[in-house]
Amino acid sequence: MPNREKATPIDEAILDRLNRGILLRTGAYRTDDHVVLRSGRHTSEYVAKTLVTTEPTFTEGLGDIIAKHFSRFPVDLVLTTGYSAGLLGHCVARAHPGRPRFIFATKERSGVARTEVSLPPEYRAFFAEGGRVLIVEDILTTGETVGQLIRLAESMGGQVVGIGAIWRRSSGMKFKYPLFTVVTHDVPTFAPEECPLCRQGIPINRTIGSGGSDDESDE
Ligand SMILES: [Zn+2]
Repeated sequence: MPNREKATPIDEAILDRLNRGILLRTGAYRTDDHVVLRSGRHTSEYVAKTLVTTEPTFTEGLGDIIAKHFSRFPVDLVLTTGYSAGLLGHCVARAHPGRPRFIFATKERSGVARTEVSLPPEYRAFFAEGGRVLIVEDILTTGETVGQLIRLAESMGGQVVGIGAIWRRSSGMKFKYPLFTVVTHDVPTFAPEECPLCRQGIPINRTIGSGGSDDESDE
């Protein structure tokens, strides 16, 4: 059967812009800031991860979009890690017609900058009941956390159905399983010496980014 639901590229671009507009209204997406990312690079655009899930009806709406995208796939488990991804994952699990369970991995620091994910032992039995896993994340920066969740699901004998997230900061990001993000947007970043905002003398906002909360932690 032809895939009538598949949007044309132009539709996707318009939808992407609309979704970014919605995120802009929540205050989670800033386009006129001056922030230092953990990588040391500067940017004017920023997604404040901690603000993405502050409006519950909006979080539910985003969960619906992701659940709808994966509604044709049977899913037994929605797997997340991190607090805001957990809120979103709950909404995805609730909206998915397969009525999957919602589970989360815990993040632990290992070494200086690395975090590792691990599964609470209580969840292991769920993989034996049916291990079709949908991984849900909020903001994808490097994809490192998703990579860890994929390895975790596979190590439990799970079968990854796909990955759903709100925002992909780099359109080049790929996984070996289908990835769906509500927004895909390449955020322009600059080396400090080439930063146009620094040249204009715009002060750096230290309250977010690497100088602030854990927003830039890499998912
Ligand atoms: Zn700068």
